[in-house]
Amino acid sequence: MARERPGRDSAEIHELTERLRRFAQVRSWEHLHTAKNLTTAVAAEAGELAAVLQWSTPEQDLAPMREELEDEIADVLIYVLRLCDVLGVDPLAAVDAKMERNELRFPAPGGNTPEGG
Ligand SMILES: [Mg+2]
Repeated sequence: MARERPGRDSAEIHELTERLRRFAQVRSWEHLHTAKNLTTAVAAEAGELAAVLQWSTPEQDLAPMREELEDEIADVLIYVLRLCDVLGVDPLAAVDAKMERNELRFPAPGGNTPEGG
C-alpha cells in the first residue's frame, strides 16, 4: 500500500475524473467505456502519440509538433483516467505505490534522496 503523502491535494485529478465521467454520461457512452475498450483506447492513443515523433531525430526542434504532442498526450491521459474511474483505481495512489517499488528496484547511486534532490 502506498504511504500517505501529507499536503498533496488530489482534488484536481478527482475533478477531472468527474468531468470525464459526466462527458461520457451525458452522451450515453458509459456502456462503451468498458475496461477492455478503454485499455484499447489507451494503446491506440499511445500509438498516435508515438506516430508524432516516429521519424523525428534527436537534433530536431519539436516545437512545431508541440500542439499535436499535447493533443495526443491529452488523449492518452483522458483514457487512462476513464479507465481508473471504471476500475476504481486511484491514479495518484497507484503511481505512488509503483514509484515506491521502482525506488527499491532501481536504487539511486549513492542512495535514494527525497524527490531526487
Ligand atoms: Mg488522438
